Amino acid sequence: MYQDTIAAISTPLGEGGVGIVRLSGTGARRIAEAVFRGKLSNRRLSYGHIVDPETSEVIDEVLVSYMAAPHTYTREDVVEINCHGGPLPLQHILKLALYHGARLAHPGEFTLRAFLNGRIDLAQAESVLDIVRARTDASLRLAIQGLEGRLSVAIKTIRTKLMSVLAYLTARIDFPEDEIEPQEVIRPLNEALQSLQELLSTADTGMVYRLGVRTAIVGRPNVGKSSLLNQLLREDRSIVTPIPGTTRDTIEEVSNIDGVPFILVDTAGIIHSQDIVESLGVARSQKAIEQADLVLAVIDMSQPITKTDKEILDLIGNKTALIVANKCDLPHQAKPDELGREVVFVSALSGDGIAQLEERMVRMALGGKVFVSDAPIVNNPRHKDALERAGRGLIQALSDIDSGMPDDFVTIDLTAALNALGEITGETVQEDLLETIFSNFCIGK
Ligand code: GDP
Repeated sequence: MYQDTIAAISTPLGEGGVGIVRLSGTGARRIAEAVFRGKLSNRRLSYGHIVDPETSEVIDEVLVSYMAAPHTYTREDVVEINCHGGPLPLQHILKLALYHGARLAHPGEFTLRAFLNGRIDLAQAESVLDIVRARTDASLRLAIQGLEGRLSVAIKTIRTKLMSVLAYLTARIDFPEDEIEPQEVIRPLNEALQSLQELLSTADTGMVYRLGVRTAIVGRPNVGKSSLLNQLLREDRSIVTPIPGTTRDTIEEVSNIDGVPFILVDTAGIIHSQDIVESLGVARSQKAIEQADLVLAVIDMSQPITKTDKEILDLIGNKTALIVANKCDLPHQAKPDELGREVVFVSALSGDGIAQLEERMVRMALGGKVFVSDAPIVNNPRHKDALERAGRGLIQALSDIDSGMPDDFVTIDLTAALNALGEITGETVQEDLLETIFSNFCIGK
């Protein structure tokens, strides 16, 4: 347990119905009682006022929940003060809490404490952030499964198996001349390796749901990129979240297509002067293509394919791409079939063909894989990397055994695999990695 008590505003700053100041730690109750005029009772909402004890000034009318350790988010005493959702009441209440002995929480520190106090493991803690950031129902479902510990359970099963192999090898030290019993070592190692590979096979799909598919819409001016973007961002999509672009001359928005978050990067959202239009089209497209997972190369069907069209298509290289043959409602002049790539015919004006385009986009994003909802899924590059390292350790251990290397060699590779797996759940994790992970959280989470 940590001695200091942390406090933070846990709701977004701005005007809202309610705002919450959260405290966690051994002093949470004492601090709350110092500033709360009302009666605190465990696991009940208590009505009252926050009052500055020095001036007797009433800061706000509030509902306070006090949850005694250990059955709380952090496993420590937690107090949540629900006040009116404005920046001033929230800041005043936070200031009072700090004045009375709390320390301002670091980003993600409540969740960090939940991890350090053993309520959740590291993979589960990361899922908390995934839940907050989920942009589609499917992403959310995966994140919730992560929080429930589905991946963690799978990892622990593999670790337990490897630990017993390690125990067997360690016990053998006194009898190094004996043959290794295959069923004690080789079989469990192969089984563990297979489980790892099964988990890894879910990673690409899992990461698509978590991170989204960066999709660049490229093409020369006036082929209909903005119109296409608008079609893909139709209002009836459940969540459309504008997020700032990584560069100032592009617009990025997230569109939910069949549960897959597509981060659409529009290179057209820029005013260009006529004479430099063409060269700008190419330069901007190049940048967008470099950063993209999927490229939608738009051409205008009502005009013959131009040199600029071809230049832009040449930039795509071996990126996953679709040619979107737009303006199909007009008489056709272009012959996109000669371009040697998959073509989808649409009219961004009427919406014809957009459904087919979306279907192709989803299929390409998921690589034809189906999302099986009850199997554990890897959705985090950090986990994928650790699983790959663990896999390499096991393959090396098996090859050590095969070539008759001393047990020590096998033990070293096995330990490396175990440590890599432990990084996922946080059993073996370095301080600086924790810092990196939790610094992505917001303050108050
Ligand atoms: P951008 O410069 O590539 O973003 O192109 P815009 O989306 O701004 O479209 C350029 C012009 O083409 C606009 O006048 C659009 O209304 C028109 N346009 C876009 N898509 C279509 C389409 O499918 N059919 C027709 N007839 N016009 C379109």
